[in-house]
This record gives sequence, C-alpha cells and structure tokens, in this order.
Amino acid sequence: MDFPILGTEPHAVELANTLHGGEDHLRTRQRVDGWFARVGLPAVDAGSARVLRDAVHRLFTAAVAGVSPDRADVEVVNGFSTPTRLELAWSASGPVARHRDTATGGAAVLGRIAARAIELLAGPDALRRCTAPGCSLFFVRNHPRRRWCHPSCGHRDRQARYHRRRRRPEVSR
Ligand SMILES: [Zn+2]
Repeated sequence: MDFPILGTEPHAVELANTLHGGEDHLRTRQRVDGWFARVGLPAVDAGSARVLRDAVHRLFTAAVAGVSPDRADVEVVNGFSTPTRLELAWSASGPVARHRDTATGGAAVLGRIAARAIELLAGPDALRRCTAPGCSLFFVRNHPRRRWCHPSCGHRDRQARYHRRRRRPEVSR
C-alpha cells in the first residue's frame, strides 16, 4: 500500500496528508489499518479516523489560506481531543507540557492526534502547504527557509521554474 507519508511531520499533519492529489488514501478499512501501522500507531476505528482526518484537513486548509473554517470542524476536533488532557511536568530543565490520556485504545490515539492538531493550529508552529507542481502536502515549517514538504519537491519546483524561464525569456522582467 502506497501512502503520502513524509516521515518528518507530526501524526496530525501526516494524517491530514492522506487526502492528497484528489485521492482519499484512507478509503477502505484496510488502508486505515495499513496507514496507522505504517506510522507506528495502534489501530483505530476507521470511520472515526476519517471523520477526524476530514475535519483536520479542512482546518489546516483554512489556516494556510488565512480564512475562517466551518465551526462544525472546530467542534469535531474538540470532541476527539477530549480524552487527552494537558499536564504540567517540571523537571531539572524546567516546565514542560505533556499530553496525558484519560481513555485507552483508539480514542486515546485519535485524542492525541486531535490535541496536536489544535497545538499546530493555535501554537507558534508555522503550518505550510507545499508549493511544488502537483503537490499540496502540509508540513510544519521548522526552518525559516523551508518552502517544500520534501527536498525532492524543492528540486522539481526549481527545475519547473528553470524550464518556464527558458521557454519565455521575455517575461523575465
Ligand atoms: Zn511537496
């Protein structure tokens, strides 16, 4: 089974990316099971995973576009995040926020994904969408110069722009 997995992003981002290129990569229960196994997470209910994924995908799309989302999607993500609570831990290196599960199984897995999606949407992390031709994967811009989801997309994008410039030298100004 082939999935658009970057392998570098939080699970919330990788899950949103299963809707890509006009294709639902989680369209069957087998594919949902396959995806969760591939990213190293326990199995979850396929229908619930898709409901959360769809809402997160629409919220990320709205965030990147700078528009307000549908309130229903906000409520879906809040509902899924309920089994996860934020906990303060204080170690020698200082205070850290930790997610703590108040449920088990699939509810806890999806709870953590929903909580991470909330952090990504509301926190300081810069959520971006790849601008390479034919790619629209989300990624967290962890480096100020990062513009693509993967170095291979950067390579393709630079090549495409090089060929456009060669074809139409008159529009270079
Ligand atoms: Zn890309």
